[in-house]
Amino acid sequence: MDASTIRCLITAGPTREHLDPVRYISNGSSGKMGYALAAAARGRGWSVDLVSGPVALEPPEGVAVHRVVSGEEMFWKTEELFDRARVVIFCAAVSDFRPVRRERLKRKKPDGRFLLEMEPVVDIARTLGKRKKGGQFLVGFAAETDELEEKAKRKLEAKNFDWIVANQVGGPNSAMEGDENQIAMISRSGEIYRFGPALKEEVARFILEKLVIGEGR
Ligand code: C5P
Repeated sequence: MDASTIRCLITAGPTREHLDPVRYISNGSSGKMGYALAAAARGRGWSVDLVSGPVALEPPEGVAVHRVVSGEEMFWKTEELFDRARVVIFCAAVSDFRPVRRERLKRKKPDGRFLLEMEPVVDIARTLGKRKKGGQFLVGFAAETDELEEKAKRKLEAKNFDWIVANQVGGPNSAMEGDENQIAMISRSGEIYRFGPALKEEVARFILEKLVIGEGR
């Protein structure tokens, strides 16, 4: 790939779905893997758009960061940047559901139990996967607690990814908040590369390297 022509789009971090101005539903995610990917892509000379949920990380130098809060905001920004991107990496831990109503004022503390009605949030990767054009490479992540590689392969098909990066969550090698990750990277044609445990920066470089080799063939 000629680095100067490659535009890369990465989603990263968690999303938040507010039930009132101060409270929200979210996912555990530090954003470190997505930010490491953005830095590694920039390191290759690619131009990088990073659509990021709320995280406590410094944006990598030279990367265009687009900050969002909710899944819907992440969808609209990613959709806007999607067509011009050659490589798209869906690394965000998008909250899969949201409260049906968002109260304008802070909700009064309940005396006892209460029910919160929820609805699904748009699946960004699945929706944009349907729009993939020739020459575009889509990479997804699958965080699973069990049957890691099987579930990841099914997700690759369902979301029209070219590659999926499977990582374990929960247990000793959990990827969620830490600095390290252990992955299996699986292609559409069934190639599998395993890597780690290693620092997320090293994992990011590994993923991009395999992606470039795969495309060059
Ligand atoms: O179905 P699941 O959430 O496990 O799929 C994970 C993959 O899909 C990740 O690449 C994640 O970034 C992406 N995803 C998304 N929008 C959602 C849910 C997941 O882009 N609403």
